[in-house]
Amino acid sequence: MSKYYPVIGLEVHAQLKTQTKLFCSCSTEFGATPNSNVCPGCLGLPGSLPVPNNEAVRLAIRLGLALNCEIELNAQWTRKNYFYPDIPAGYQTTQIGGDLVFDHPIAKNGWLEIELEDGSTKRIGITRIHMEEDAGKLIHDLSPNNSHFDANRCGTPLCEIVSEPDIRSPQEAVLYLQKLKQILEYTDTCDANMEEGNLRCDANVSIRPSEDAPFGTRSEIKNLNSFSNLEKAVEAEISLQAVTIDSGHTVEQCTKRYDVSSAKTITIRSKEDAQDYRYIPDPNLARMKVSPELIKEIGDAMPELPDQRRERFVADYEITPYDSIVLTMEKDVSEWFDQAAQDCKNPKLLANWVITDLLREVKDQEGGLAEVKIQPKQLAAMVNLIEDKTISGKIGKTVFDEMLKTGEDPAKIIEAKGLVQITDPDSIEKVVREVIAENPSQFEEFKGGKMAIKGFFVGQTMRKTGGKANPGMVNQILDKIAQE
Ligand code: ADP
Ligand code: MG
Ligand code: ZN
Repeated sequence: MSKYYPVIGLEVHAQLKTQTKLFCSCSTEFGATPNSNVCPGCLGLPGSLPVPNNEAVRLAIRLGLALNCEIELNAQWTRKNYFYPDIPAGYQTTQIGGDLVFDHPIAKNGWLEIELEDGSTKRIGITRIHMEEDAGKLIHDLSPNNSHFDANRCGTPLCEIVSEPDIRSPQEAVLYLQKLKQILEYTDTCDANMEEGNLRCDANVSIRPSEDAPFGTRSEIKNLNSFSNLEKAVEAEISLQAVTIDSGHTVEQCTKRYDVSSAKTITIRSKEDAQDYRYIPDPNLARMKVSPELIKEIGDAMPELPDQRRERFVADYEITPYDSIVLTMEKDVSEWFDQAAQDCKNPKLLANWVITDLLREVKDQEGGLAEVKIQPKQLAAMVNLIEDKTISGKIGKTVFDEMLKTGEDPAKIIEAKGLVQITDPDSIEKVVREVIAENPSQFEEFKGGKMAIKGFFVGQTMRKTGGKANPGMVNQILDKIAQE
C-alpha cells in the first residue's frame, strides 16, 4: 500500500444541559416513560409557536467562549426540511442555511489545543458551533413490522461543534474528542456521556498523497459512540480509501456507518442521494439579539477550564505536568484531588496515591468516583500520617484498602488495627537483636562484609513487627550492631 496522509474533521453533537427543551417547556429528563415529555410544540403540531430557551443560548455562548470562538450577536434560526418518521414537524430547526446568506450560527472561528505524545501542543480549528433541536427516537422490535416512536427527545437542545479539517491521524481525532468532552464537562454545558448518547461524533475522512497536496474526497462516518470506535473507524476508512486509490479507483463522497463486528465502514448513502434541505429562515423566530454585555457576563463567570486547572496544579502543588494531565482528565477526579490537596502536607505523594491506587478503584467501579467510599479529606489525612512517619507507606496500603471497604477515617483504622509505625529505637533494637540471635551464622557473614544479607535481616525484623518498624531505623540499628 502506498503511503497516504489522512485529513480528518469531526462534527460533534452535544446535548446542552438544560432542564427543558429548546423551544417549549417540556422536560429533557433522560429515561422518562416514552412520549411523556411532549406538547404540541415539540410534536410539531400546526399552530404551535416556538419560544427559544434562554438557558440553552447562554450555555451555547459559554461553550463558544471556552472554545475561543467569536460569538454571533444576531444568530439566525433556520428550517432544514426533510421527511423522516423521527421528526414530526417535517423540518429541524437549526442555525445553518447552506450558504452565507442564511448561515449565522451562534459561534464561529474558534480552536482548542490537544497535547501530543511528544509533549508538544497542536491547535485544532473550530469552524462553527450551531444550535439545533434533536429528533425523536425510533425503536425497532425484533419481530418484523413493529416499530415504536418516542418523541421525548424531540426538541432537546443540541450544539453541533464542527472542526476544521486540521486533524491528521486517528490518534489526534481521539485526542480532539477527549479534549472537547473535557471542556464540555468543565464548562458544565453538557453531561458528555457517550453511552447515554448526549455526546455523538461523526468523522469526515480523506487521504492525499503528500502533506501539501490538495485535500482528497471525504467520506463521513456517522454516529461513532466511543473513543475506541472513533479510532478504529477512522483507521478502517483510511485503509479502505488507500486500497481504493491504489487499485486505480477514485473515492466517492458518501455517508457511512461503522460496523463494529466486522471492523469495517459501510456506505449508507452516496452523494447522488443527498437531499436538498430547502433551508429557509424560520418565519416564527426572529434573529437573535445577544448583547456584548451578556457575552461579557458569561465570560466573566466562566468556570476554570481544563488547561488552566492543569497548569494551576503544576504551579500550586508542584506535581509533574504528566501527573497533572492524568489528574485533570476527568472533572470529578480533578475536583477530588484539588480538595484533598488543600488538606495535605505532601501533594506530590498524594498525587501518587490518587493516580495509582484511587484511579484503579475508580476504573473497577461501574459508577466511577461517586462509588468510592474514601473522602478527599481522609486520603489527605492518611498521606499526612505517612509524611509525619506515624505509618509507613507499606502500611498505608493496608489502611487504604480498609478505607475503601469501610469509609472509616485513617486514624481510627490505624488505632483499631494497631498499625502505628514503631519509631522507638529501643524497641526496634530489641527485635533486631532477637533476629540476630536466631540467625547467628548469617550475622557473622554480614559482619564479614556480605552486604547482600542485610536485606534478609531487615525483612525478618519487618516481619516480626508486622511491617510496623520504620525500615530506615532498622537499617541504621543493624549497622550499629555490626560495628560492635
Ligand atoms: P456537511 O454538512 O456537508 O457535513 P459540514 O460543514 O457540516 O458539512 O462539515 C464538514 C466537516 O468535514 C468538517 O468537520 C470539515 O472539517 C470536514 N472536512 C471538510 N473537507 C474535508 C476533507 N477533504 N477531508 C476530511 N474532512 C473534511
Ligand atoms: Mg456533516
Ligand atoms: Zn414540548
